[in-house]
Amino acid sequence: MCICINCRYVKKCSIYKLIEQQHSIVAHNKDCEFIPTQAIITINILSKNAYRDWDVVECLSFIEEPGKWLNSY
Ligand code: SF4
Repeated sequence: MCICINCRYVKKCSIYKLIEQQHSIVAHNKDCEFIPTQAIITINILSKNAYRDWDVVECLSFIEEPGKWLNSY
């Protein structure tokens, strides 16, 4: 699971915007000026159709704020 959903910066993070784009989700975070430090992304290939699941699994900028993603939009 992507750790970004519980991160204080999810609403304005440039890396999370990339994750949304890779999931073909319309990017909600228009103001994505925040550049995190050492975000590590894993990409799992889930099918022959090359569906890929992108997740941030580590990030030095992460500050826990449970449910931030749900409360952001
Ligand atoms: S965990 Fe890192 S990459 Fe994800 S929203 Fe927070 S700062 Fe951005």
